[in-house]
Amino acid sequence: MIDGAQTRPRYDAVVVGARCAGAATALLLARQGLSVLVLDRDRHGADTLSTLALMRAGVLQLHRWGLLDRVRDLGTPAIKFTSFVYGDETITLPIKPRDGVDALYAPRRTLLDTLLADAAADAGADVVYGPRLVDLERSSDGRVIGAVIEGRDGVRRLVGADIVIGADGLRSTLARLVQAATYREGRHACGVVYTFWPGLEDSRSRWHYRAGVSAGVIPTNGGSALVFAAMPQPRFYEEIQSDLAAGYRRVVAECAPELADELAGKAPSERFRGFPGQPGLMRRSYGPGWALVGDAGYFKDPITAHGISDALRDAELLARAVGRGSDRALADYQSTRDELSHKLFEITDTIAGFGWDLDRLKPLHLDLSKTMNHEVEALLSFDA
Ligand SMILES: Cc1cc2nc3c(=O)[nH]c(=O)nc-3n(C[C@H](O)[C@H](O)[C@H](O)COP(=O)(O)OP(=O)(O)OC[C@H]3O[C@@H](n4cnc5c(N)ncnc54)[C@H](O)[C@@H]3O)c2cc1C
Repeated sequence: MIDGAQTRPRYDAVVVGARCAGAATALLLARQGLSVLVLDRDRHGADTLSTLALMRAGVLQLHRWGLLDRVRDLGTPAIKFTSFVYGDETITLPIKPRDGVDALYAPRRTLLDTLLADAAADAGADVVYGPRLVDLERSSDGRVIGAVIEGRDGVRRLVGADIVIGADGLRSTLARLVQAATYREGRHACGVVYTFWPGLEDSRSRWHYRAGVSAGVIPTNGGSALVFAAMPQPRFYEEIQSDLAAGYRRVVAECAPELADELAGKAPSERFRGFPGQPGLMRRSYGPGWALVGDAGYFKDPITAHGISDALRDAELLARAVGRGSDRALADYQSTRDELSHKLFEITDTIAGFGWDLDRLKPLHLDLSKTMNHEVEALLSFDA
């Protein structure tokens, strides 16, 4: 659509970034009948760093948008139970079937992000891989009125838009170009290392905690489970990053000896991936002719596994605001997002600091659970 166009293309919305936040936003805008271009500098189906777990709110969004069956059809295992293992004490909870959510799921990002982008294309959005946002076009009063994008051939093109949406992740180019101010920052970050193991139990996720460490088992596609090990960021830098495999084995053994026994003698099916951590942040996420969604506007430590679910929630908040068509609606988008997020941000930051003992961690998890229930209620109220 863009290549070779002599006249300048114009869309109601240009969305930069075609993963969970961007593809979902594009899908919902296209379903409203808007003309949408969603572009990503990466390739269709590319993987990204993630431990994959969707919380109830994320699964609910996929159900509400008619996409949960596609997730199941891809062979994503249904996680029917979740266990919290505090030291040697295990608390196992069933995932109660409710509101169309029969189980939790942790689809590979190669599948989930692609499924969302394909659904956006089915809804009429133009989905393009390869070009990247490099600059913005503005009117004389400073309003963003278009995106300058650069193809892999190095050629720059201008695409006009009523709104340019940055769903381009934590290091968002759009946030930089509009100088979006950061108004909340986390204090802590934790390091994480993960890989995939075949042949583990596939209907239960497990979250293990001991002082200073965490580990987890998250069943995903292909008969594998993702197993992660998490630790305070300084430990990641000092002891883990130089040899991810050895550091991972040490932390899993320290945190969850029975899990380490399960993995002993087995080989992971993929390479070890490490993330040193990054404190959370909230950025101003709207302005004249622009908005941010997903990690671009609101990032938190992955220890509570909530970024994808939040991205799917906020895609809908933003799409509704864009549909209302006023700058005021965009301001409401940010304030609703923040109202739903501040508590979770605080709890996540506290857990990521690893300053807790197990007696302190349990009430934090109860608070987290209440916050997540509130979020689910908020999403259900959209259908009322
Ligand atoms: C180690 C780790 C584990 C995690 N585990 C979980 C978990 O278990 N559960 C969970 O819910 N969340 C988890 N998260 C968080 C989750 O991955 C993110 O919140 C989520 O990916 C955010 O999605 P997004 O679409 O906003 O951004 P991203 O996934 O970062 O996607 C941004 C996209 O924008 C594209 N892009 C960037 N700049 C440009 C540009 N200039 N032009 C064009 N395209 C551009 C990129 O190519 C990319 O595809 C984890 C994160 C990490 C790092």
